[in-house]
Amino acid sequence: MTKRVVLIGHPVAHSFSAQMQQAAFDALGIDARYELLDTPTPALQETIEALRADEFLGANVTIPHKERAATFVDRKSDDAAATGAVNCITREGKRLIGHNTDVDAFRISLDTLVGKQKMPRAAVVLGAGGAARAAVHALITMGFQRVIVFNRHLHRAEGLVRHFARSAAHMELRAMPWHESVIESELSRTKVLVNATSVGLASDESPIPGELLAPDLLVLDMIYNPPETRLLRDAKAAGAAAVMNGELMLLQQGAAAFQLWTGQPAPIDVMRQKLAEARASSAGQSAGEMA
Ligand code: NDP
Repeated sequence: MTKRVVLIGHPVAHSFSAQMQQAAFDALGIDARYELLDTPTPALQETIEALRADEFLGANVTIPHKERAATFVDRKSDDAAATGAVNCITREGKRLIGHNTDVDAFRISLDTLVGKQKMPRAAVVLGAGGAARAAVHALITMGFQRVIVFNRHLHRAEGLVRHFARSAAHMELRAMPWHESVIESELSRTKVLVNATSVGLASDESPIPGELLAPDLLVLDMIYNPPETRLLRDAKAAGAAAVMNGELMLLQQGAAAFQLWTGQPAPIDVMRQKLAEARASSAGQSAGEMA
């Protein structure tokens, strides 16, 4: 029987996961199919329940469902429990296990972005959804001493900070209101800026005006499609020390998920190559749309 893995999210059409994961299954001769499953919120629980069937190896979960999905699994891995967010589901018999492979993927991305420099100790995170939770958990465990979370709806950022109260007790983790003057002031005293909002995914917009960006920032935008968001362009123009999109994070979270579903190490070079092809073909389509 051909096994199934589904990406549960809304929207999912922008995702490169299907090309990347299908190439990995095919390269290892695993009889499995990766499908995009656009799932509006009211259908989430039923969709996750259906994963208990034998035909499923598991699933990925993406925007906007990572936190809610954590409440529908039977058991959570350490990173899923620590973040309260699930981006990967595996099956043990009829039981569903929730994982969070975004955490390590974010850590690897930030390490790569920082390169040979000393790892900074202060960061600003924009957003308070599932992706932001992975970033904040990684920053806390990487030894950051000050992390400020801005979110359009402040109460969600406050909920995030409450969630991490214990693990962040030794450092300063704060939610602040989304006011441009406050963001600008925080950015002037920080080194790392993480965009964990979805702004820039569907349109050429940045979550914050370019004028707020201090020079010398290290900017990690989790969005990978489009590959260069307005935020990253603005950051370069403002003199950023380095910028990175979410492609490495996508690759790393996907490789870890592949290993969890199949028990085999992911063919990461195949996946990297397929991602590059998907990016090139998507850029060609966008150019066509603009022409
Ligand atoms: P969620 O839906 O859980 O969270 C979305 C976040 O974006 C919230 O903080 C929300 O704020 C904010 N937001 C949405 N619209 C606006 C707006 N118009 N202005 C300001 N803020 C806004 O999504 P996720 O956390 O799962 O994902 C967030 C982003 O990270 C997505 O673009 C996703 O593709 C990307 N991502 C990339 C990964 C990778 O591997 N590269 C891995 C994980 C995520 P509010 O709460 O106020 O609505």
